[in-house]
Amino acid sequence: MNNPVPTTCMRCAVGCGHLTGTVDSGYGIGGVRGDITHPTNHGLACARGIEETENPGGTWVTRPQVRRNGELVPTTWDVALGRVINEFRETLSDSRDGLAVLGSGQQTNEAAYALGKLARGGFGTKHYDANTTLCMASAVTAYYDAFGSDAPPCTYDDIDDATTHVVWGANPAVAHPVMFQWIDESGAANQSQLIVIDPVETETAERGDHHIAPEPGTDLALARAVLARVSERGDTDDKFIETATTGFEAVRSALPDAEEAAATAGVSMHVVDMLAEAFDDPTLLYWGMGVNQSVQGTETAGALIDLCLATGNLGPGSGPFSLTGQANSMGTRVCSSKGTWPGMRSFDKPAERQSIADAWDIPVTRLPDEPGPGPVGVTQAIEDGTVETVWAVATNPAAGLPNASAARDRLRDAFLVVQDPFHTDTTEFADVVLPAATWGESDGTVVNMERRVSRVRPASRLAPAVRTDLDIITTIGNAIAPGLFPETAPEPVYDELASLTAGTAADLSGISYDRLDDEGAVRWPAPTAKSEGGYQYYTDGEWSFRTPSGRARFSTGTHNGVAEPPTESYPLTLTTGRESDGYNTGIRSRDKQSDSLVVARINPDTIETLNDDLAGDDEAEIRADAAATLASPRGSVTVQVTADTAVPTEMVWLPIHHAATNELTLAATDPRSNEPNYKQCAVSLTPIDVERTEERAIQPNETST
Ligand code: SF4
Repeated sequence: MNNPVPTTCMRCAVGCGHLTGTVDSGYGIGGVRGDITHPTNHGLACARGIEETENPGGTWVTRPQVRRNGELVPTTWDVALGRVINEFRETLSDSRDGLAVLGSGQQTNEAAYALGKLARGGFGTKHYDANTTLCMASAVTAYYDAFGSDAPPCTYDDIDDATTHVVWGANPAVAHPVMFQWIDESGAANQSQLIVIDPVETETAERGDHHIAPEPGTDLALARAVLARVSERGDTDDKFIETATTGFEAVRSALPDAEEAAATAGVSMHVVDMLAEAFDDPTLLYWGMGVNQSVQGTETAGALIDLCLATGNLGPGSGPFSLTGQANSMGTRVCSSKGTWPGMRSFDKPAERQSIADAWDIPVTRLPDEPGPGPVGVTQAIEDGTVETVWAVATNPAAGLPNASAARDRLRDAFLVVQDPFHTDTTEFADVVLPAATWGESDGTVVNMERRVSRVRPASRLAPAVRTDLDIITTIGNAIAPGLFPETAPEPVYDELASLTAGTAADLSGISYDRLDDEGAVRWPAPTAKSEGGYQYYTDGEWSFRTPSGRARFSTGTHNGVAEPPTESYPLTLTTGRESDGYNTGIRSRDKQSDSLVVARINPDTIETLNDDLAGDDEAEIRADAAATLASPRGSVTVQVTADTAVPTEMVWLPIHHAATNELTLAATDPRSNEPNYKQCAVSLTPIDVERTEERAIQPNETST
């Protein structure tokens, strides 16, 4: 490998250190391997992370493009940026909220901070989200509710010390391979166990000691059944509850009957008891999108935290550990997202708002009063005329939003600017496309899911017509709001962010580029140049949470039913999950899947039952390994059926980030976090040659947004 450059893998939020090689001529990466000196992974790396860094699929955007006479045509940066800046100015002159900005966990901290600063402090729009709302918002809201802070308590150091590992609604064997290796090894050790809770027998479940398969969308019912049994059995940690928490009596009195809740979740009391017993041990409770992406995502995440609180599973080797997906989704939470200011400062506190305005040298009145509705709400705001212009940075809402067909129709009605290294479903109908650098070409920092800040360094020169996200954002920003970015290089922008976090829960002020050069990666909170964050809320045997009382708070949510139950017309339940090449709407692997249908995994018994209902018509039979039509009340897609006993009967599994999947998903959202209900909706499966187009046409009263 030539001139290996130490950097951080940006495929997932494990945050492995990589060494990337340079090429002798031209542009690109000349080899990738794990960095044995990096404190996160000590040389480990996964094949997908290496492949997507070294040789991403997808089609690169190589020139700025503008739409003329209906066609995207190449142009210069001056022309493209001139059009963007004029359009932004015109929109803002009508209404600050008329310009929506959608960011991504694929950006460095420096770019994400600059984008949030521009959206909130330059444009003054409420329509901003750094992507948190599509992924971690339910966990974030639950953390604030419980701990008064979004800082997850655990770190990777706790994995080895846990006796029980409960993985709930997540598939880290596919999504976070290196971290899963640590979990798997710890779970395989003597007297340790790995319990996996997922409707589908995932790759993670295959490795587990126990697999529990609740009905889709019933995680909250199961969590409450377990807490009810913990309470009935007298297995609560009364000393911890009494000294470190509030609200336990309220949750206990709101708990459902354990047997009824277990029946709702479709599991036996034997299973509930087994889970209740597991929490006797030091337990790490990991969860992912199967919990967050639900209309009750916040309450479900809160119920998982409650299980840890009630059993005293808070402290080194135990606790709630949400698994972030995109590489810098934790960093964007620190930089500011929909509901926070930099440093995870509260959006609602006037003093925090004033301090941000002072730091940015802008009038406080420019900052929006409300955090906005998130990406699903942005598309609705286009429809009602509130939003005229959308700027999508390193994100692909045309494929990634639920009920994607309706979302696309709305985005088409806006003036759409897309900034991305690759052509995506969204660039297809953009008005301006700005070619941005990707990882391997960018300079900055990211934060992994255990709060560790690590450097991203370029190993390739930038192609001539490509600019970094930070360069594009600060150029637009200084044109619209002169002086907003006195510094435009990554290091001073990082220093500005770090200084704004001083004294907050996410204190980066002791972490500098020089320190990262010396130490590789450092966890926040780090208020001094020598300090590093460890387990949160716990010091020398004393608990202290960032709530007004200093105690952790229980929650009281109970299961309200699934968002879209099966009906006679749509008798099956669709669930979605990650496949190995399914990050970032698959755009870095899109050339590998573009010609193939999305694969729908279905239990062979389900296929047989559906065929029985077709009254033996051989011409109209659903066949494994053949195409079929999968429809929901929002639309239909052609899928390749694969018979798979890992999927329970009466269910269909689709990969979350295939472009076809979100034609079907439901855009209902959690009322607290605004996170969409990607994980459960009603569908039908019919043979491809049965003409059902009219029958399945979207009825106005069935269209859900
Ligand atoms: S586990 Fe994640 S961060 Fe580590 S190499 Fe694989 S994709 Fe990259």
